[in-house]
Amino acid sequence: MDFSKDFLSSLPTPCYLLDEKALIDNARILFSLQQRTGCKILLAQKAFSNYALYPVLAPYLAGTEASGLFEARLGHEEMPGKECHVFCGAYKEEDFSELLSYADHIVFNSINQLKKFGHIAKSSAKSVGLRINPECSTQEGHPIYDPCAPGSRLGVTKKQWDSEMTPEYLKLLDGLHFHTLCEQNSDALKKTLIAVEQKFGEILYGMKWLNFGGGHHITRADYDIPLLENCITYMRDKFNLEIYLEPGEAVALRAGYLVTEILDIIKNDINIAILDASAACHMPDVLEMPYTPPLFGAEKADIEDIEQNHGYENVYRLGGATCLAGDVIGDYRFNRPLEIGQRLVFEDMAIYTTVKNNTFNGMPLPDILVLRQDGKVRSLRKFGYSDFKERL
Ligand SMILES: *Cc1c(COP(=O)(O)O)cnc(C)c1O
Repeated sequence: MDFSKDFLSSLPTPCYLLDEKALIDNARILFSLQQRTGCKILLAQKAFSNYALYPVLAPYLAGTEASGLFEARLGHEEMPGKECHVFCGAYKEEDFSELLSYADHIVFNSINQLKKFGHIAKSSAKSVGLRINPECSTQEGHPIYDPCAPGSRLGVTKKQWDSEMTPEYLKLLDGLHFHTLCEQNSDALKKTLIAVEQKFGEILYGMKWLNFGGGHHITRADYDIPLLENCITYMRDKFNLEIYLEPGEAVALRAGYLVTEILDIIKNDINIAILDASAACHMPDVLEMPYTPPLFGAEKADIEDIEQNHGYENVYRLGGATCLAGDVIGDYRFNRPLEIGQRLVFEDMAIYTTVKNNTFNGMPLPDILVLRQDGKVRSLRKFGYSDFKERL
């Protein structure tokens, strides 16, 4: 994507610019996977809930996945006629009957929760599932995204299953669900399925469906789709199951930008640019994960290394205007010196941003715009002072 200077100056900053064409390109990959394997793919809304674009995605997806009542309602309202699935760490009694009016599949996190709500879900004609924990960690580096770590609260281990499950409640189950991956390729899924089969294989013969959760980076260029297809068809055929996947990231991967303006440039041994976008407020995963997001026209740099190696010409540390010392987005090398007033474009900003941002320091929320397929830009949502004040 190549944005002209004029185009960038026409945008309000900071803003998220969602890319309709990139979204459709992703959705087409997911659609053809469903056609070839018969699996069903849901949008995990916690990664991307910009429902103005649900009509664009709906023709390619089987429905939505929700983390609780509000996302379930959003999926039900904004992707009408499609499947609505929900998994929540624990449901609240007072929410449950409303949830039943939205969801088709209800997945429980514990056998306690199955015992508490399973009968009412079943008698309301819902498809009932239980999240399992195959205790198979496949990722290094991001322990906060590992639901298979010892002591995890997410999913039922085989040991818990053996001590708590009874025939009465087993009978309520239509399917099993696992979610153990994060930004991973299909080799990690293959390894996970071996653990699932080893621990829960006998149980799977009695189920109608198996949900592989999210974390599959299917739309990334180096993703091994043929291996994913083998995984799906193997489980489908061996256990006679319907297979669901519920990726969030893969649906909206690289399908949006965060456009920001340079407010100030200062030098404290190193070059520093202060932006009207903030890591802490507008791209919290940069600090939580942490990672350095891609930026148009720049490459990532590491100021500590550069000092030792090549000097640091046109290398800048980019940070927000908040009070947080650690509100740093990253170090980048540019072709030429930066200027105050210049616009910068962070890439891959559709996921885990508009759903996670905040107004810490009273920072304004970025407006949300969409770049339509025909090249026209439409504003979806503007934010102002009241959006800050009304939450408080
Ligand atoms: C987070 C999550 C997803 C989506 O994960 P991505 O990494 O965005 O693909 C799907 N299902 C469940 C249960 C999740 O918690």
